[in-house]
Amino acid sequence: MTDSDLVRAAIAARENAYVPYSHYAVGAALETADGSVYTGCNIENASYPATVCAERTAVFKAVSEGHRSISRIAVAAAPKGESAPFGEAAAPCGVCRQVLSEFMRPDGVILLARSETDYDVCTLGELLPRSFTAKDLT
Ligand SMILES: [Zn+2]
Repeated sequence: MTDSDLVRAAIAARENAYVPYSHYAVGAALETADGSVYTGCNIENASYPATVCAERTAVFKAVSEGHRSISRIAVAAAPKGESAPFGEAAAPCGVCRQVLSEFMRPDGVILLARSETDYDVCTLGELLPRSFTAKDLT
């Protein structure tokens, strides 16, 4: 799967975002080390802290199916019903960066999409340098 394919999958997953409160829809699509692809969307809740981001939805789906290594993830955010963000492409929040760091190496690729053909390419190490990991617990 190409980067563009993964971005396309994230944009498609965004259609399922459940965002009745913020109307801020996010889709994510990740690829595991063995080439499997999992998607996710953000899912809001009337109790706001119970909301979960698209990235973590995708990660938890993959991990719950036995995967432990994520090589790439694409993220696509836009106001619900719009096809592109108003400004810069959104990056994963701090909590999602931390969750990704459990299953993704620092050189793992994160694609921040504005559209199917317009996206930034960065690494987890760039977005979360000197992350807290299992090595800090020993
Ligand atoms: Zn997040």
